[in-house]
Amino acid sequence: MPQLKDAAYWRAQSTDLLVEARAFIAGAYVGASDGETFAVHSPIDGRELAQVALCRGPEVDRAVAAARGAFQGGGWAELMPRQRKAALLRWAALMRAHAEELALLETLDTGKPIGDTTAVDIPSAIYCLEWFAELVDKVAGEVPACDPQFLGTVTREPVGVVAAIVPWNYPLLMAAWKFAPALAAGNSVILKPSEKSPLSALRIAGLAREAGIPEGVFNVVPGDGETGRLLSLHPHIDCLAFTGSGAVGRQISRNAADSNLKRVWLELGGKSANIVMADCPDLRRAAQAAAAAVFSNMGQVCSAGSRLLVQRSIAEAFIAELLEAARAYLPGDPLDPASVTGSLIDDAQYQRVRHYIELGKREARLLLGGEGCAVVPGGHYLQPTIFATDASSRIAREEVFGPVLSVIEFDELDDAIALANASEYGLAAAFWSADLGAIRRASRGLRAGTVWVNCYDELLDMNFPFGGFKESGNGRDNSVHALDKYSELKSTIIRC
Ligand code: NAP
Ligand code: MG
Repeated sequence: MPQLKDAAYWRAQSTDLLVEARAFIAGAYVGASDGETFAVHSPIDGRELAQVALCRGPEVDRAVAAARGAFQGGGWAELMPRQRKAALLRWAALMRAHAEELALLETLDTGKPIGDTTAVDIPSAIYCLEWFAELVDKVAGEVPACDPQFLGTVTREPVGVVAAIVPWNYPLLMAAWKFAPALAAGNSVILKPSEKSPLSALRIAGLAREAGIPEGVFNVVPGDGETGRLLSLHPHIDCLAFTGSGAVGRQISRNAADSNLKRVWLELGGKSANIVMADCPDLRRAAQAAAAAVFSNMGQVCSAGSRLLVQRSIAEAFIAELLEAARAYLPGDPLDPASVTGSLIDDAQYQRVRHYIELGKREARLLLGGEGCAVVPGGHYLQPTIFATDASSRIAREEVFGPVLSVIEFDELDDAIALANASEYGLAAAFWSADLGAIRRASRGLRAGTVWVNCYDELLDMNFPFGGFKESGNGRDNSVHALDKYSELKSTIIRC
C-alpha cells in the first residue's frame, strides 16, 4: 500500500536525515582547512541542522585551482557535446531518484512548505538541468556571408571558470539556473550557496561525482558574504553569475572591475506591478492570481507582484475578492503537505518585513494581516498583509521580500503604465484586460523583462528568458539565451 505522506511522515523522515556539511572541492567532500564552521538553522523551529564548513581564502583558491585545472585538462570542455549531455542527464536522474530527500532538505533549510519543494522547487531544478543537457548537442555556430576568397565561422567556446553566487529563496533552483547552462556550455563551476541555505547544493555535489562529472568541474564552497567577496575579487575566475540583492550586485561589479574584469551577470530585485483594468475578463481569477503573486513562498520571490494597480472604478469589488483570496495564504507547518505557506527564512528577514509593516501602518491603510502567527515555536511566521496606499509610500516603492502587498488605485491606462514604470526595478509586470489594443499598448509600454497578460507567474519554464530591465539586472537566465552568458564567441577567418 502506498505510504501516506502526511506531516508525521515528513517529521519522521527529517529525524533520520543525514546532512552533508562539508565543502565539495576537486571531486571530494572536505572540511575547511582551519576547521571553521558556521551553524545552519531550520527556520521551521529554529533548531540547528548542521555545522557547515566555512570556506575562506584557502578553500576558494583550491576550488578555483581545481576548476581551472579541470577546464584546461579538457576532460569536460573538450568532450563531445553528447557526452556532456549524457553525464548531465545521469546527474539529473540521480537527483530525481533523491528528489524526496532534496525536497525535505530544502524545506528544513528554508521553511518553505514541503508541498512546494516536492512539486515545484526540486522538480523545476532537475528539469532545468535536463533542459540544458538536451540543448547542448543541438546548438550550432554561424557561417556569415563574406568575401568568397574567405571562409569565416563564428563558434561558441566556454568562458572557462564560472562562479555562481545564489540566494536562499529558491536555493537549488536558482543554482540550477546558473550551473546547468554553464556546465552544458563546457565551463567549470564554483557554486557559492547562501549561508542561510547551503544544504541542497552540498547534497547534489556528491551526486555529480556519482554521475561521472569529472573532478574539479563542479565545486561547492559554502560560506558567507566574505566567501562571495573573495570569489568576486579572484583573478582566475572568468565569469561570475549572481542572483541576489542590488547592494551586493553593485559590490560584485566593482570587485570584478578592480580585479580581472571577469564577466558579471546580475539577477537582482524587483517591485513588480500587477495591473488590473476594469474590463479584466474574470475578477475572481485575477484576485486569486494577485494573491498568489505576492504571498507564494511568503513573498520571498524576486518577481513577486508586490504592487497591485487597480482601476478605480472596480477597486472596491476587486479588493473584496482579493481579501478573500489572501486568506488561503495563512502560514502552516512547513512539514505539513496541506500548508500553502511556511516560515520566512530567518529572524533577520522577519524583523525586516515587520519593520516595513510598521512603516506601512503609519503611511498607508492596513486592509489585512499585519501581525505574526504562532505556528511552530521558534519559527518566523507572518500573516499575509495588504495595504491600500499611494505610489509614493515606501512600502509601495521598496522591495519588502515578504508577504506584503501594496494596492494602488489609478484612473487611465497610461497612468497605470507610468506608475508601473516609476521604479528603479524592471523585472516583471502583469496586465489584466479584455481589450487587445490595451494589451498591446501595455506589453510594449511596460519596462520589464517579463510581462504576463491575464495571468501571473505562468510559464516560468526553460523556454523563456528570465531577467530584468534597469536595476533588476542584466543578462538572462533560462532559454537558449542563457548560453550567451557562459560562452565566448570566436570569429575564425580562413583565406582559401
Ligand atoms: P544577498 O544578500 O544579495 O545574497 C545573495 C548571495 O550573495 C548570497 O549567497 C550571499 O551570501 C552572497 N553575498 C553576500 N554578500 C556578498 C558580497 N559582499 N560579495 C559577494 N557575495 C555576497 O541576497 P539574498 O538576501 O540572499 O536574496 C534576496 C535578494 O535576491 C532580493 O533582493 C531578491 O529580489 C533577489 N533575488 C533575485 C532573483 C532574480 O532572479 N532576479 C531571484 C531570487 C532573489 P550569504 O547569504 O552567505 O550572505
Ligand atoms: Mg537555512
